[in-house]
Amino acid sequence: MLLNDVCRRLPLRILLAEDNTVNQRVALRLLERLGYRADVAANGLEVLEAVRRVQYDLILMDMQMPEMNGLEATRRLRQEQAGRPGPRIIALTANALEEDRQRCFEAGMDDYLAKPIQVAALVAALERCAPSRTPAPSPGPGVEAP
Ligand SMILES: [Mg+2]
Repeated sequence: MLLNDVCRRLPLRILLAEDNTVNQRVALRLLERLGYRADVAANGLEVLEAVRRVQYDLILMDMQMPEMNGLEATRRLRQEQAGRPGPRIIALTANALEEDRQRCFEAGMDDYLAKPIQVAALVAALERCAPSRTPAPSPGPGVEAP
């Protein structure tokens, strides 16, 4: 697998929302290996500010952050979008419980990655992202049009 080829195939503007500086560095380095340079937000409030300035394709969203956690930030972001296409949001969490997964989806997240992030899992999650500016929204992979 050619890692640094991933961003050329899938050009994505990425925001990493993570409060822990060690986890930030690990995730940024992982993204760098794939050719991405992500912006960073340290809590949900910073996420909401960032998305007002930049149209991101993807947010990697830690669930547990101070000030405003990932679930709350996602709910507010989805409210502010009010039906307009927004960034894809992938939850980052150390808890791989089904209950957490459910809460992520209910809040408006699209996908889910367990921490520590594995490169293969990240690449698979990126493959499921379609850039938000594609002209016609198509159903997700594996979904047949009616
Ligand atoms: Mg955290």
